[in-house]
Amino acid sequence: MGCEGMTCLEAFKKLDDYLDRELTADEAEAVRAHLEKCQHCAEVFEFDAAVVRCLKAKLSRIDLPPDLMAQLTSRLDTPA
Ligand SMILES: [Zn+2]
Repeated sequence: MGCEGMTCLEAFKKLDDYLDRELTADEAEAVRAHLEKCQHCAEVFEFDAAVVRCLKAKLSRIDLPPDLMAQLTSRLDTPA
């Protein structure tokens, strides 16, 4: 069985870090490459990204100190 790139399990483990931009460029690229090839993981990732977008929309309606808001939204920013 060909085993190039990461497995679904590895991709799952890295999804949170991927969303938080806590991966190295190589790791992020490996996750992205897996998502392009794997429909299942792509759907999970889309779901996660949707949750993050929803959170950001909610945050934008809450009155928070600007510096705290900037901190939160930068953490929630998804990679393009
Ligand atoms: Zn997968």
